[in-house]
Amino acid sequence: MQDTYSRRNFLRLSAALLAGGAAVMTGAPERALGMGTISGRGEPGGLAPISFVKGFCSFCQARCTYQAQVRNGMVESFIGEKDNRWTGGSMCPKGLSVIELINSPYRLTEPMLRQPDGSWKRISYEEAVRITASKVRECLEKHGSKAGDRMALTMPLWDSRESELAAEMTLHLAGCVHMMPPGETCTSTASNMLTSLTGTGNCTTTVNELCNAHTVVLWGANINDLYPPYTRWLEMAKARGVKLVYIDPRRTRTSLWCTTQLQPLPGTDGALALGAIRYVFEHGAFDETKARALITDLDKLREDAAPYTPEKVQEITGVPADEAVAFYAALAESPRTILWLGGALSRYTNGIQTVRALIFLQALTDNIFGSGRGIMTMQSGKPGGDDEFVDALLGPLDKAKMNFRRLRMAMEKGNIDVLFLNCSYRRYPDCDNVRKAIEKVPFVVHRGFFMTEETEASDLFIPAVFSPESQGSGYGNEKQVVWREKIVEAPGSCVPDWQFYRDLGIALFGDRYPGFKDPADLYERFVSIVPSWKGMTLDRLRKSPDGLVWPIYEPNGEEHLGNVFRDGKLLTPEGTMTVQDRVFGRIKWTYPKGSPLGKERDEKYPLVLTQGKVLWHWQQTLTNFSRELAQYTEGRFVSINPETAAKYKLAQGEKVLIETFVGSLEAWVDIRPEIIPGVIFTPSHCTASSPLEQNRSPHINTILPNYWDRISCQHNGVGCALRKIDAQPKA
Ligand code: SF4
Repeated sequence: MQDTYSRRNFLRLSAALLAGGAAVMTGAPERALGMGTISGRGEPGGLAPISFVKGFCSFCQARCTYQAQVRNGMVESFIGEKDNRWTGGSMCPKGLSVIELINSPYRLTEPMLRQPDGSWKRISYEEAVRITASKVRECLEKHGSKAGDRMALTMPLWDSRESELAAEMTLHLAGCVHMMPPGETCTSTASNMLTSLTGTGNCTTTVNELCNAHTVVLWGANINDLYPPYTRWLEMAKARGVKLVYIDPRRTRTSLWCTTQLQPLPGTDGALALGAIRYVFEHGAFDETKARALITDLDKLREDAAPYTPEKVQEITGVPADEAVAFYAALAESPRTILWLGGALSRYTNGIQTVRALIFLQALTDNIFGSGRGIMTMQSGKPGGDDEFVDALLGPLDKAKMNFRRLRMAMEKGNIDVLFLNCSYRRYPDCDNVRKAIEKVPFVVHRGFFMTEETEASDLFIPAVFSPESQGSGYGNEKQVVWREKIVEAPGSCVPDWQFYRDLGIALFGDRYPGFKDPADLYERFVSIVPSWKGMTLDRLRKSPDGLVWPIYEPNGEEHLGNVFRDGKLLTPEGTMTVQDRVFGRIKWTYPKGSPLGKERDEKYPLVLTQGKVLWHWQQTLTNFSRELAQYTEGRFVSINPETAAKYKLAQGEKVLIETFVGSLEAWVDIRPEIIPGVIFTPSHCTASSPLEQNRSPHINTILPNYWDRISCQHNGVGCALRKIDAQPKA
């Protein structure tokens, strides 16, 4: 297969953006883009002295740290923190785009209240807090002890971890525990399965351990496009002779670093994993004593994997049997293996079983404990302690949390009165109907930045701040906690989330709300209460170029990197894993719901739809407002293999409709050999509300069905068709 992602091509594309974290845009952004200056800011340029302020990027869990170059109250550039041991000082284009977004002419900087005729009225921040408090109070008075279940909040909160705490305290006092986690659509399945089987929902080791492994399997983890600065770890591991195996239906930039790639059909990873388990049993390539000590019902694992012969694996996954066997043999012989689970594994309705199979594969082959072994995920790293802190201050609230699937049902039934909509609802499949559910909520507050679909769906808009506009801490994939001072003032009436939720808490509950002056004040209080944070003092955090890895129990204690199972024991109460799960049963692999590969295939929709992020964009809400990034994006494209193109008589650049049984949207055809035949890929960031043509298209989730499993929100693997626009019957 031809590889158009040549190393040279890759370097040309990304060197300027990654090396040393140099900013995409240097000098004054307004001048570069021909925009006006937001009022209240100093004029750019001039002879004013330059200062440097430490900060971190809030977008993804690589959590790059930087020095912001500031002049006249404006950020001129970000210089990646060269002493950051995780990133080596690199940053990616998404994070750097914040320099432009802060000063974007599209930014909304004042609160707005929806009027009965649908128009917006500008109001003050104080009025916005009063109105929100009155709606929450109404709900509390009407529903008493049940009011907490009639409210919910969707994260992320944009500026800092202290914002999450401030919001949690406000909701807690209202009797509400329903805060939807930010990674719900990214890693929730992997995280939940890891928690139930190993006792931790985060990575079980740190990324530096890649260099101590013998084999690293990037199972759907497209490191290069999603965590560009982490590419250095692939490079370092490779230089040390570590075998890098990549499993992904598409060849991506990550393929360049790996010695082997398998390209299974989307949604069939579980069958590939069960085939590996079968191979290990068949060849006795495991330590039975150790395996039995860890897996209580090992024989059930053998039974569940037994049907997955190489031939059956080939039939299901499309991976030739000899390639699968070579991969299995390499795994069986590897003395130390790290599995890195990509977010896409959580995005199929069979994700639970796939992830369980992968965790058991690691357990069977003695790759859970010790150096150079473990399981990594994308978008994880949340340290513990939040609930502990809030419960210590306010008393425990013994209630079960809803996930978004349940929240959607509650909204549809008219059982939610107040929704704090911070995230994009477009991240959920069948998003047009998600919006209809939101419309049934009498009062929706949106905290955001631009006129997006979420703003349109809300009753009250209160502008948020970008990360450089607030002090606070954040956490990254390695459970490292980082600190940032406020770098520049926010424009207009934009306020950080910690301020809004604190002010709301005080307006509602007065002295019962644990008031705090600023994030530093709240952080110090947190550290003084939660034992696992005792050593993570603010003073240490402020001095560190890349933060401190949680937990540190002693005031001057050292960080612990590497495998989290320090005593060689799982963190579950029993310290063992069981195949026969009370909720999920045995490990039974089936095709994902809606897959055109399964028995229930619909001949009208024969192609497998996959979608995901691209190097230049984060998700639906922010980076598609960046003019700088828009010059690298090419609208709604649909990548297909030349074979697929020939079969459906499609030419490069031709306009087509991507059709599912839910709906259709327009795209241009991008023919490339990197994707396997019968599968399509289209980017997830495009959205109808982008003011920039390069990013404007109805969101892909408008045509994805309402398929959910118990944990995650699925986006991938459903059947679709491509139809030439010209071939449409005329209306
Ligand atoms: S890799 Fe992630 S944290 Fe780093 S600059 Fe890019 S988006 Fe921000």
